[in-house]
Amino acid sequence: MLAGDLWVPAWLVMVLVSGYFMTLALHAPGVARNTYAELRRRGYEVCPGCGYALRGLEPDAERCPECGREREPLPPPPIVKEPKKPDPLRGELPPGGFDQWS
Ligand SMILES: [Zn+2]
Repeated sequence: MLAGDLWVPAWLVMVLVSGYFMTLALHAPGVARNTYAELRRRGYEVCPGCGYALRGLEPDAERCPECGREREPLPPPPIVKEPKKPDPLRGELPPGGFDQWS
């Protein structure tokens, strides 16, 4: 194979290209599982196995209609801590100073 003035063996091109696609193919299931898990953490009820949206199914439906996997309850929503408000009576100031309160 001739690419300009640089000679590259065809087998090297085939190995690199096939390695690229093999890497994509091997990572695709993990990427999909992480996506489904993140959707579930955010409160979207999707099947953790196939990603099928389970919203609107009968509440007593026990299995995913797409893949047959047993339906799992959503994880509890994450606890979000509110940032502590400064207490001026204790001498605490907001990060921007007094201008924040005017
Ligand atoms: Zn499913």
